[in-house]
This record gives sequence, C-alpha cells and structure tokens, in this order.
Amino acid sequence: MTADRPAAQPMKSLDDALTQLLDYATIRDGAEQVATFDADGRVLAQDLVSALHVPPQDNSSMDGYALRCADLTDLAQTLPVSQRIPAGSAGTPLAAMSVARIFTGAPIPLGADAVVMQEDCDVLPDGAVRIKVQPKPGQWIRRAGEDVTRGAVVLAKGARLTPAELGLAASIGMNFLTVARRPRVALFSTGDELVMPGAVAPQDMPPGAIYNSNRFFLKALLKRLGCEVSDLGIVPDQRDATIAALRQAAEHHDVILTSGGVSVGEEDHIKPAVASLGQLDLWQIAIKPGKPFAYGHVADAHFIGLPGNPVSGFVTFLLLVRPFLLKLQGATQLAPRSVAVRADFSWPRADKRREFLRVKRNPTDGLDLFANQSSGVLTSAVWGDGLVDNPSGATIAPGDVVRFIPFSELLA
Ligand code: AMP
Ligand code: MG
Repeated sequence: MTADRPAAQPMKSLDDALTQLLDYATIRDGAEQVATFDADGRVLAQDLVSALHVPPQDNSSMDGYALRCADLTDLAQTLPVSQRIPAGSAGTPLAAMSVARIFTGAPIPLGADAVVMQEDCDVLPDGAVRIKVQPKPGQWIRRAGEDVTRGAVVLAKGARLTPAELGLAASIGMNFLTVARRPRVALFSTGDELVMPGAVAPQDMPPGAIYNSNRFFLKALLKRLGCEVSDLGIVPDQRDATIAALRQAAEHHDVILTSGGVSVGEEDHIKPAVASLGQLDLWQIAIKPGKPFAYGHVADAHFIGLPGNPVSGFVTFLLLVRPFLLKLQGATQLAPRSVAVRADFSWPRADKRREFLRVKRNPTDGLDLFANQSSGVLTSAVWGDGLVDNPSGATIAPGDVVRFIPFSELLA
C-alpha cells in the first residue's frame, strides 16, 4: 500500500450495520392521541385492553329460529313463534315449547340452545314452524367472547396499525388511540446533475442531466412509514451549500436523510460537511446493491446518507432505514419476513458481498430474475415483486431454494 492512498475500509456486514444502527434509534419523546380513523400506519404506544367481550353476548350467525333442542322430540312436531328478535334488539327468555324468530347478529334468548336456519324450516299457514332437520345444541350460535375476551390485550404496544388493527380497536370501543409521534424527517438530494421532472422537458434536458428519481421514492417510503417529511429539495455539490442545508435541516427534525454524495470522490461533499457540523461515519456495507452508507449526527438530529444510485438507495432504505424509522417509533416487528422459494434462474457468479436480487414470482411458484441487476436500473424494482437475499459467496442454480423477501414485507 502506498502512503498517499487511504487504507481500504473493512466492510461491515449488513447484520452488524443494522444492529449498530438500531442501537442509535432511540426515540426522544412522545406519544400522541389520534382518532382511530387516522391511525393507519402508526405504531401503537399503549397496550389495548378490552373492557368487554366481543361479541358481547351469544348471538345468531343465521337468519332462522332459535329453540331449545330438548323441546323437539319428533320432527313431525310444530312449534309456535313466541317472539321476534332482529339484530339490535334484546328479546326475552324463550317460552317453553316455542321458537323465536331470529336474525343474524341478534342475541340468543335465554333458554334457547340452538338456531335452525330458515332454509331448514317450513312455516305453516297458522304461523307455527316445522323443523325439518334435527338441530344439535350450539349450532349457528356465535359465542360471547369468541373474538375477544374481556381483559385481553388485543393489541400490544409496538404494534404497527393496519386496517385490520383499526377495525379490531374499534370493535372494543376505541375511537382514539395513543400512538408514537411521527418522526420528523428532512429529506434532500445531492447532485449537480439532478433536474426535477417538470422543470425541464425531456427533449430539452442538457447533456449530463438526469431527473431526480430518488426524491420521489424516498419521500413516498418515508410517508408510508409514518414520517412527517420536510422536502428540502436538491442541494448543489458545494461544501457551503451542503453545510447550510444540513444546518437548517438539523433544527426541527429527528432525522436528516440524504441521497447521493456519500462515496469518497471529491464531488462528494456530504462527509466533510456533516463532519464539520457534527460527526459522521462512512460505512462500507457488504451488500449489493448498496455499499456506501453514512450515519452520523448534526446537532441533535440523526444523519443518514444513502447512495445515489437509485436501486442502491432503494434497497438500502428498505434494509436499514425502514427498521431504523420503525424502531424510532417503538415498533416491535422490524425484520421483514422472508420465505423459502424455488429459484427458476441461475446466478453463476458468486459475489463476496451479500446480494439482494430483484426477482418476481412466476405462476409455477418459482422465482424469475430480472435480467439487468445494475444498481442504476430502477425498472428492476418495478418489474420485481421482491428480493432474493443471497448470502455472500453463494451461486444459485435452477431448482435451488432461496430466501425471498416480498416487497409487501418491505413497503409497508
Ligand atoms: P453519487 O452517490 O452521488 O455518487 O451518485 C451515484 C449515481 O447515482 C450517479 O450516477 C448519480 O447521477 C445517481 N444519482 C444520484 N442522486 C440521484 C437522484 N436523486 N436520482 C437519480 N439518480 C441519482
Ligand atoms: Mg453525486
């Protein structure tokens, strides 16, 4: 090694990088109350304990007739209808040797032990009912508490709320929920080559210019993760402008997220700018696509710098920034769940880095590979519906079983 060349940084494994990053992800303050209607995507900051049974009482799962099975000794018998119980009303104890007309969701009257669906009954001209099939005690009755029992924790602190969780919370009477406050994230892109769509028409793009695509997917990803995003736009590749942008961003944000400029070329100004205001570590993470990643601080704000190549930025966000932002909100499920799936492609050249290949499930339950795995080809992430997590040094032959992480695990 020559003296004027810096020593190559040892590469960090993804697992080590993630562990270290999650250690830094401590939330500073606060939970807030939001209407259950508005809580989709948020992280619960309280255990939700049910104050009642769901359903609250035994009720009918059919339109039909409630009866006491023991009253029916012979199918030739007819039983008069002694009351009518639609959903929303309560009924009275069932008179002996009678049935109650009952509808789906209506409470079972005291004394009844089964419901006969109306299709299994004949209603005679005098209004009495003949039951055609001998009922079994308990049939077509939904039991009180079969969904939720009183006192049960239906959702634990740290649960990520999705539409089903909102419905469950509502079913125990919660119209407001205590959730972690939204992380405030300042987002900016670096790169003098970047042009905003709409600012210059495609046919007028000057040589060397490209549209800023990262800004769009990063903003959308941040919002999906419950963040409040301040979009600070494009910062030119100049030290002073980068410092000014960072200083402004640090003021009111929990996290500063940038894309581009984290390599070590002399046009990469993020490292010296962050270092002059706070502290920065440049990590070389042994993943492909990805590799350069920066973590540091500016004042009290976390700083995260993603690589500029779109697929690198996208994948690095999903694997590292996503769990970081979820942990900031106190979420408990951070790791995406992978499944074992058959590869229907070959990947003959092993890489020393752990690879995340863009693939798509095919109709025979195998995985197809997008032909161009370059870190600049965003089409791969659109064509694909997930990533194969391929260990370092591993090749793949058709028929091999690989670890597949669906985008549905990573984009929620
Ligand atoms: P950098 O990390 O700044 O060296 O950029 C690496 C590659 O990603 C270069 O080809 C950049 O032009 C490209 N790039 C950087 N930022 C963006 C962006 N916001 N949108 C699209 N491509 C970008
Ligand atoms: Mg750049």
